[in-house]
Amino acid sequence: MEFRREMKSMELLSPLAGFERELKWVEYREDPLTACQSRINVARVGRERQAQVGVDLTGVIEGTRGDCLFCPHNIEQRTPRFPPELYPQGRIKRGECLVFPNLFPFAQYHAVGTLTREHFLDLDEFTPEMLVDNIMASRDFIALVHQRDQGAKWPMWIWNHLPPSAASIIHPHVQILVDEAPSPELSRLLRRSEEYFAARGRNYWQDLVEEERELGQRYIAENDSLAVLASYAPRGNREVQLIFKGLSNLADLGEGQAMDFATSVVKILRCYKGMGVNSFNLITYSAPSGERLDYYWLSARMISRPFFQPFYTNDTGFMERFHDIWVIETLPEDVAAQLRKGF
Ligand SMILES: [Zn+2]
Repeated sequence: MEFRREMKSMELLSPLAGFERELKWVEYREDPLTACQSRINVARVGRERQAQVGVDLTGVIEGTRGDCLFCPHNIEQRTPRFPPELYPQGRIKRGECLVFPNLFPFAQYHAVGTLTREHFLDLDEFTPEMLVDNIMASRDFIALVHQRDQGAKWPMWIWNHLPPSAASIIHPHVQILVDEAPSPELSRLLRRSEEYFAARGRNYWQDLVEEERELGQRYIAENDSLAVLASYAPRGNREVQLIFKGLSNLADLGEGQAMDFATSVVKILRCYKGMGVNSFNLITYSAPSGERLDYYWLSARMISRPFFQPFYTNDTGFMERFHDIWVIETLPEDVAAQLRKGF
């Protein structure tokens, strides 16, 4: 496994008195599996953002509460139900979680699952139980879809929190998508993992965990079922990977492993809050339902997004949207060092 990196410097004249020569450093990195590119400049975190002002969010939270479709006073009346042939009870219930169809889908099977009855929770207010209830209800949806339609075997479980992450509703919720084909990025992960296995007879994800454990710099925590690492070549700031040992797809996720995952996510959320984060994305890369792959382990990735406030500078620009290069302002080794304290 090769962790490719290159430091490139650029000399410029400082605008400060005397126009001293100043060196700016950018680190170019490639993901060891996919060769996907990131460029890291930690100095960017301190750059001026002219339209950004700190503000109290109470107004936004209270202003959206009354009309919220996902709050207990509306959810039963105003959210759709699954057709009886998929799920006769209409919506999947577990604890505080309710899973129901997405009114504005962009996948063949696209559901929404609430995480809590509360309209808003801060990052340190989520509990592992809320997450486990949601993940298990989501897994049931994924399994029901696959039972009814054998072609629908590519599931995703996604949590976008607050508008900077592209969530359109403040109320905490996840999306569950099941498609007939993998996304291009997932195809790439599977293909490269299979090639790695063919060449070395070993599972890339297992090797990654072992190598990162040995190196220590990006290693955060692990137990028998889950490993937590800061990504070497991130696609977002403060990127964390959660790798499910010995499990390749979401449909086969058991309660114990789900609890380990939920507990780790809750710890990361608390650390994120301590770092001044309030918005994030959490996504999964699952192998197909009904297939157990030796060469592939299920993983999830979390990234922080810009702080939710009326005006903020987006963290996704032309390099990400048009050139597939991720410009990053947090050093993975620093992220790991900070998160380790929360585990
Ligand atoms: Zn609500």
